[in-house]
Amino acid sequence: MPTEIRARDIMVTRVITARPNQTVLEAAKLMRDEDVGSVIVCEGTRPIGIATREDIVSKVVALDKDPKKVLIKDIMNTPLVTCSADEDVINIARTMSKYGYERIPVVDFGKLVGIVSVREIAKVSSEAVEILRERFSITTEGAIEEINSGYCELCGNYSEILHYVNDRWVCDNCKDEAEEI
Ligand SMILES: [Zn+2]
Repeated sequence: MPTEIRARDIMVTRVITARPNQTVLEAAKLMRDEDVGSVIVCEGTRPIGIATREDIVSKVVALDKDPKKVLIKDIMNTPLVTCSADEDVINIARTMSKYGYERIPVVDFGKLVGIVSVREIAKVSSEAVEILRERFSITTEGAIEEINSGYCELCGNYSEILHYVNDRWVCDNCKDEAEEI
């Protein structure tokens, strides 16, 4: 059942962008100065990826890499999953659940016009919250955490961290195999 609430009704229109060849340090300073949790990486005007605070923590800081040397393009999430400004929040919730993305950029006629997050969607639709709960744990205080654990769809073993590869949730060991299918 569509909710009649669309991306354009709830999106945040102030989107901070970065270039693929900027360093992670530059992006981190940008996020701090602009008080945002993510930057959309654009090549010219075309959005190609997203890098979040969590990416900086898990792919740079926790691995003891140098944020002055690592480039945004090396830690950004691609392909970029976007939605249109007219997309219903239920559909966006399904996309977020499927990919485990907390933020989805909104693109209108090829142009980046805003960004929607799990938090905004959870606020406007209880039906969407049910869909989001398949993938995120949402507390009554509104805190959101991605649930990554579960059973691998290839080997069937339980894994604390599953990856979404070619339409399947797979464990670390099966990741390469899943990429080849
Ligand atoms: Zn497996």
